[in-house]
Amino acid sequence: MTYLEELFFRFAPYFGETFVSSYGVILFPVKVKYFRKAYSTWGNYNGFKREIQISPTLKEFPNALEGVLLHEMVHAFLHAKYNSDKPSGHGHEFEGIQWNLNVKHFGQGDAHKIHFKNMLAVISKDYKF
Ligand SMILES: [Zn+2]
Repeated sequence: MTYLEELFFRFAPYFGETFVSSYGVILFPVKVKYFRKAYSTWGNYNGFKREIQISPTLKEFPNALEGVLLHEMVHAFLHAKYNSDKPSGHGHEFEGIQWNLNVKHFGQGDAHKIHFKNMLAVISKDYKF
């Protein structure tokens, strides 16, 4: 199992039994991998392929990597919840879930704002979320 897959399965219980049941059965399979090149985006969720891709630049910034993976997992969660092939945007529900998740994982609700508005500054210092 890759490091990204390990993280994914570590975070999966944050989403109840959406991704994995309490018995370990995979309910909504999602692939997780790095982009082959460093693109201008830190992460992406492709609903058609059910695939999360993370910038390889984040390998050196574990906190930022976890924040971006959690963010993309919210997209996958909403995809599973609404069973739509349209990727969800950052609407009210998204923001609420992200906030609660960040509080649970990082102890602060606004971690995603830090990483989306000011990510370069964040990773240049390996900011602690
Ligand atoms: Zn997003």
